[in-house]
Amino acid sequence: MNNMSSSPVRKIVHVDMDAFYASVEQRDNPELRGKPIAVGGSAARGVVAAASYEARKFGVHSAMPSVTAKRKCPDLIFVPPRFDIYKAVSQQIREIFAEYTPLIEPLSLDEAYLDVTENLKGMEIASEIALEIRAKIKQVTGLNASAGISYNKFLAKMASDLNKPNGQAVITPKNGPAFVEALRINKFHGVGPATAERMRKYGIETGADLKSKSLAFLQEHFGKSGPYFYGIARGIDERQVKPDRIRKSVGAEDTFIEDIIDLDLANAELRPLAEKVWRYCEAQGIGGKTVTVKIKYSDFTQATRSRTEAIPFANVAEILDASSALLATVYPFKRPVRLLGVTLSSLTGAGAGNTHQQAQLDLEL
Ligand SMILES: [Mg+2]
Repeated sequence: MNNMSSSPVRKIVHVDMDAFYASVEQRDNPELRGKPIAVGGSAARGVVAAASYEARKFGVHSAMPSVTAKRKCPDLIFVPPRFDIYKAVSQQIREIFAEYTPLIEPLSLDEAYLDVTENLKGMEIASEIALEIRAKIKQVTGLNASAGISYNKFLAKMASDLNKPNGQAVITPKNGPAFVEALRINKFHGVGPATAERMRKYGIETGADLKSKSLAFLQEHFGKSGPYFYGIARGIDERQVKPDRIRKSVGAEDTFIEDIIDLDLANAELRPLAEKVWRYCEAQGIGGKTVTVKIKYSDFTQATRSRTEAIPFANVAEILDASSALLATVYPFKRPVRLLGVTLSSLTGAGAGNTHQQAQLDLEL
């Protein structure tokens, strides 16, 4: 862990959909909009899976017994869940995340951590990435998301709640420690009600109280969680964003403002894509032997062309040459081109392959 301190500051975004299941139901059924609804069963033993913001005003929240919810909010409308729809929306938002970074760690269908320190768009400002992602989510799904931006997972997660719903907040390295000190212990992500109660017994009510305890004390009383609590009390959290699957490719694509019919113009558009892919691979120590060019036409049909070499591409010029050659094979274009993509696969190196290599990737980040 010590060598992490020499790493550059990480840029972590936590994206969290607002009242996810309930918002999907209100999206799909206009009669439910503006009304207090609970997704879940209304039966005697039913539990609220999600509550709309209108229902939350009455104190209805997820995991609450439906009977209690109905008592708090007599006009509450119960809607049966449609998990296949929620999964499909979840897939849509993950595809949006993947345009920015392969380092996506979903926490549930509607929440994920993204490490955008190195990102496929080459964007410097993580809060601009969060704004873009939220706008795309809105555009594609019609739903609102909130985001937290910070230099580690713990603070990004805390930040996504600050301006909810439909907002985002940044916690900078400068502000992190003071933010944590002022935080009530029961608000800490990773401190459940039982732990919070035990902490209270030791006089720990806030982050500042937690910070005043030694590592030895926290290890003695909270075991393996001790070092985590010691770290987050100082705004330190070195947990990596762990993608839920091993990455198989690195790609970048761009949709053009005006469709392209000219081969030279299309070739010129390949360069920034190849550069983005190469920049990312270089930063991650990834090589690739297969390059794929995706061509999407104005009628939304698409073609892909691939070439695999015996050894990994050595530089951006090689990727670009291969991409141009592949593009030439579909010229003249059957229709104007609205999007081009360049993807590198058959990956080698630290960021690809088996789980052992995946572990190396984690360390090198
Ligand atoms: Mg949510």
